[in-house]
Amino acid sequence: MVEEKEKNMQKEKVGVYICHCGTNIAGTIDVEEVREWAGNNPNVEVARDYEFMCSSTGQELIEKDIKEKGLTRVVVASCSPHMHEKTFRGATERGGLNPFLYEMANIREHDSWATNDKEAATQKAKSLVNGAIERVVHHEPLEKIPVEINPNTLVVGGGIAGITAALELANSGKHVYLVEREGTIGGHMAQIDKTFPTLDCSACILTPKMVDVGQHDNITLLTYSEVEKVDGYIGNFEISVRKKARCVEEELCTSCGICEEKCPAQVVDEGYGAGLGYRKAIYRAFPQAVPGYPVLDKENCIYFQTGKCRACEKFCPTEAINFEQEDEMLKFNVGNIIIATGYDLFDARQIPQYGYGRLENVFTSLEFERMVNASGPTGGHVVLRDGETEPERVAIVHCVGSRDKNYNEYCSKVCCMYSLKFAHLVHEHLPETEVYDFYIDMRTPGKGYEEFYNRLLKEDTHFIRGRVAEITDADHQPGEEGKLIVQAENTLLGKQQRVPVDMVILSAGIEARADSEKVANLFKMGCDYDGFFNERHPKLAPVATMTDGVFIAGACQGPKDIPETVAQGGAAASQVASLIGQGTVMMEPVRASIREEDCSGCRICNNLCPYNAIEFDAEKEVSEVITALCQGCGTCVAACPSGAIDGAHFTNTQVMSELQGLLWDVQPAPEKVNV
Ligand SMILES: Cc1cc2nc3c(=O)[nH]c(=O)nc-3n(C[C@H](O)[C@H](O)[C@H](O)COP(=O)(O)OP(=O)(O)OC[C@H]3O[C@@H](n4cnc5c(N)ncnc54)[C@H](O)[C@@H]3O)c2cc1C
Repeated sequence: MVEEKEKNMQKEKVGVYICHCGTNIAGTIDVEEVREWAGNNPNVEVARDYEFMCSSTGQELIEKDIKEKGLTRVVVASCSPHMHEKTFRGATERGGLNPFLYEMANIREHDSWATNDKEAATQKAKSLVNGAIERVVHHEPLEKIPVEINPNTLVVGGGIAGITAALELANSGKHVYLVEREGTIGGHMAQIDKTFPTLDCSACILTPKMVDVGQHDNITLLTYSEVEKVDGYIGNFEISVRKKARCVEEELCTSCGICEEKCPAQVVDEGYGAGLGYRKAIYRAFPQAVPGYPVLDKENCIYFQTGKCRACEKFCPTEAINFEQEDEMLKFNVGNIIIATGYDLFDARQIPQYGYGRLENVFTSLEFERMVNASGPTGGHVVLRDGETEPERVAIVHCVGSRDKNYNEYCSKVCCMYSLKFAHLVHEHLPETEVYDFYIDMRTPGKGYEEFYNRLLKEDTHFIRGRVAEITDADHQPGEEGKLIVQAENTLLGKQQRVPVDMVILSAGIEARADSEKVANLFKMGCDYDGFFNERHPKLAPVATMTDGVFIAGACQGPKDIPETVAQGGAAASQVASLIGQGTVMMEPVRASIREEDCSGCRICNNLCPYNAIEFDAEKEVSEVITALCQGCGTCVAACPSGAIDGAHFTNTQVMSELQGLLWDVQPAPEKVNV
């Protein structure tokens, strides 16, 4: 290794470029000192610093030096490779070098942004730059791998995000497989009564889109289904889906609803009904469900539990009920995947002092959405749990499970707006009822949102600024029997307030789905601290993920209202359409390869590879990497006991040289020679 290094040291001409990034880097690091210091490295032909290396002038510096000074390697010390690795690879290529003969040192996120200590930051910048120089001399030219894109797309999740993405692609002539876990598409938007800020009926704007999905020639709709396995890579994913048995023959069912009517089982509707109403054991979530076939819930079906009943089968006019139906496994190939699995509502039981689940007339926001809906369990009447009594005083409590260090620190973004909507709807249904709205800060950014708030200010709602401490029942307080007492500090008046009400609505926050980590693993994405799926870049690539060909849209990426969700669904679809339009994409050549002569055939790497990209050749008794499947993660390289696997662009020599370079102040850098 040392010999090879010495050979390289004499023949390579490295150009080093230190970026100021305005004052982001230069405010903490002495860039001139780092530049001068780097220029003394024996491998360095030229070292420069510039205010913004990513600007066109900065890039032209690199291109010009490659041409005029005959550079053979390039190092840029600037920000994270996530931001600009591609930019500087492009500049290197335009200068006439292979783009992989370039290395980036992150002296911003890893250095200047991490400390105010200028001396230490400058010293660390020298180490990072030296590591990059020592590494880049061992880089090899690599060629990108062309991959054809299968024009079919998988969309996972049939809420408004998935529906939008699927329709955008289908309308542009591309085939979509839309996989939805529940018996119908629609997601949370189907549960909502009216939508802020315009108060248009949710079903009226959603249902036509659901029908379009159900009828579209370019959409294969798989409801009551889940993706179980994903193999492959951008352009060519192989998807395995479990289509769960509905116990209903879809070709025979006419969606007449007789089975549901005759079913004697009553089940609390925890799904679409948000726990407020009842459904049957064979049921459609709601009348406009798409598809219209019911689902038989075996756990609550009297026949499946006791062996007796079969009423649905008896009365079905088309003999569509099939108790013997089994789950089906389907396999298909797609080029790209859009994940739109949405959110869960925060479970308000986690805050015992708010009494949800213990105090009868404490409701969650989704329960209230169902209650206020004309097709909901109370027929749209705002009533207490007894189903009859209209509340005279209603409290709405914001930020339940949001902006709270004990639960979720983030703001759920939609709760202020839907709480204002609830205040309006209570007055619309019960004009005489007093509404008390307990908020911490009123957050209404969005088109027409502040105007909606101003409208509410004129609708006689009592706004109380302060976090609610406790909700208790007042059964032992003479004259207040049956009331709930909401206790809060009014921070504007600076005093404790005790408000007796009949009904409390908890504006629960938006959380990542409980199974988000499992779904992230399945599709090889990452989750953030709160469990939402990670985007490739929060500003510049909000719907892409770190896995090529896998996109995200809607509330699975973070709390979002409907307009934002729809915008993301469209954005994800257009990125997929552009990839399909290209026909071929070039994949990074950072891949593993096995040196046959050194492989002992132990197969340890076969089972460790997370992409199933290693096969065993029984005849030769060695393992082989399937290059198209390999994602260059390096697991096999690290695990191979014979050291027979090389990771292109991450060879042992490259990594060890970088480490030695980083530790230059522990082991002195070599003297400058021949420059
Ligand atoms: C009480 C309340 C009121 C609201 N009111 C409004 C309003 O008035 N206006 C507004 O703009 N916004 C409102 N919102 C926000 C709105 O609900 C969201 O913006 C919107 O529903 C997000 O849509 P989505 O498609 O991303 O997610 P979802 O609606 O959650 O849909 C996700 C879909 O994916 C499916 N799914 C999940 N996991 C899987 C899996 N592994 N495989 C297959 N399918 C899966 C789910 O079953 C679901 O159908 C409100 C939110 C709440 C809580």
